[in-house]
Amino acid sequence: MTLRKTGWLALVTALGLIALLPVPEFWITQLNYIGISSLAVLGLILLTGVGGLTSFGQAAFVGIGAYTSAYLTVHAGLSPWLTLFIGLALTAGCALILGWITLRMSGHYLPLATLAWGLSLYYTMGNLDALGKYDGIAGVPGLALWSWELGQGRLFFVMTWALVLLGALGLLHLLDSRVGRAIRALRTGSQMAESMGIDTLRFKIGIFVLSALLASVSGWLYAHFQRSVTPSPFGVQVGIEYLFMAVLGGAGHVWGATTGVTITKLLADQLQVLLPKLIGTSGSYETIVFGVLLVLTLKYAPEGIWAFVDRKLPKPARPVDWHNAPALVHRSKPAAGEVVLQAIDIRKAFGGLVAVNDINFSVRSDQIVGLIGPNGAGKSTTFNLITGVLGLTSGRVTFRGETISGLPSREIAKRGISRTFQHVKMIADMTVLENVALGAHLRGQRGAVAAMLRLDRSEEQSLFKEAEFQLRRIGMGDHLHELAGNLAMGPQRLLEIARALCNDPALLLLDEPAAGLRHKEKEALADVLRQLKSEGLSILLVEHDMDLVMQVTDRIVVMEFGTRLIEGTPEEIQASPEVRAAYLGTEH
Ligand code: ADP
Ligand code: MG
Repeated sequence: MTLRKTGWLALVTALGLIALLPVPEFWITQLNYIGISSLAVLGLILLTGVGGLTSFGQAAFVGIGAYTSAYLTVHAGLSPWLTLFIGLALTAGCALILGWITLRMSGHYLPLATLAWGLSLYYTMGNLDALGKYDGIAGVPGLALWSWELGQGRLFFVMTWALVLLGALGLLHLLDSRVGRAIRALRTGSQMAESMGIDTLRFKIGIFVLSALLASVSGWLYAHFQRSVTPSPFGVQVGIEYLFMAVLGGAGHVWGATTGVTITKLLADQLQVLLPKLIGTSGSYETIVFGVLLVLTLKYAPEGIWAFVDRKLPKPARPVDWHNAPALVHRSKPAAGEVVLQAIDIRKAFGGLVAVNDINFSVRSDQIVGLIGPNGAGKSTTFNLITGVLGLTSGRVTFRGETISGLPSREIAKRGISRTFQHVKMIADMTVLENVALGAHLRGQRGAVAAMLRLDRSEEQSLFKEAEFQLRRIGMGDHLHELAGNLAMGPQRLLEIARALCNDPALLLLDEPAAGLRHKEKEALADVLRQLKSEGLSILLVEHDMDLVMQVTDRIVVMEFGTRLIEGTPEEIQASPEVRAAYLGTEH
């Protein structure tokens, strides 16, 4: 049995024992509250901790689940099991609309927007006559399964925690999948993810809806546990408390949810008894303690309590079990001599600064074209124009005969252009192999549901097989299971090349791949580039190492201050006095 399975067995056994042994009712009730809140916080782990989208509005979705079920069971006499699904549907609808509007916002605007709709949903609940205004809805029936009343005790405990475990397991599976890698890429900014072909807005909305659905289930449980609903548990203050629990427990870890909720709940109980005795008057003093605690957590344990446990847990390397997996499908490659890329009068102005000034060049298949020039010449900007990271001010780019300028970068990636970044963009807490597998995103199809149910394993094996192949060919075969964040600069660049190759590109754009590489590594890189070229791949290479450029390129375009200075073969460029003057700054 694997370690992971042992852990789950221990967890299920422990929960089973709690249900069977004569644990006092008080603790069962506490654990029921903890389980209910854990589901809502689990959503925030996905949304905020993993996806990097801060929301103060999680409690509002709990409210939608709770109010839907309360209203429909009390006023329409529907079965709570039916209203669960109605609540989920309603929550999904609201989350889709809110997500569609707010998730395009970046920076501070998103958290502010979540505050805004958190508040408005709260006041909606509090002011609608049909929902009983601030008195809420009383007389909500308890849950029953056939003839068993689940009540508020042990049976309810079993069901709640079964849902918590299912939610946690689903999330763990999700995060360890093709979709999960895309979700984990969201935090690093959209540029890299989009360049891998990931529709970041879609994934943001996806985790927003999923997170809201978990909250909705939590609300449904709450309504039927509490047997009544009022607006106050669904206000923004509670939304903030959920966020606090996630941060305290460890927002980046699935188990941070239950950890954070449990600690907060137990501590709040103790403080509510202790503090009034100490201070002599009663009041919600525990809020002050929690405020201090949050600041201390952020300062001294920003990854939360679970991170300490997580560090102690043994992490067996992913078993390499994909060698028999079917290979991924390859795209058709351009014919020999075909013009693959054409930049026609491309121009980019940043305000008054013309970074790229009506540049023209083309790349044929089986060609490596060097793009060189002093710092600030506009090389990286040219890359960004070709890959759709930046919009053109004027001009046009065609790829294999099709105009690609104006397309978003994920569409350009889909057509077969891959790139690396001058400033390495990778996910530090993912292994090298997983980072590289991200590059093969477009070559898989399995979605979130398949991932949660583990129906994606054979596709995963094919993706990892490809990732391993690309890493080995670039000389990184010994680093598969290392965390990418632990790599030195040179290997990080190689990781990016392997990741770009995973997309099976027809054109590869490399932005200073040799920076930070040692001499031996540079020689190996030159060999790899020649090998790729012999396989029919075209390469556009920005590089300062002139030895490498002269060795591998077929043609070179020299840029200076955004303009094209000269274009020619390596020999012509080396012989050109203009280039010496501009690029080397001296004439030898
Ligand atoms: P290179 O890669 O050749 O060193 P870049 O393409 O990075 O040069 O930059 C070309 C010029 O454009 C520089 O003067 C740089 O400061 C400017 N530039 C690049 N990106 C931006 C941006 N996003 N906003 C404003 N100016 C920029
Ligand atoms: Mg640059």
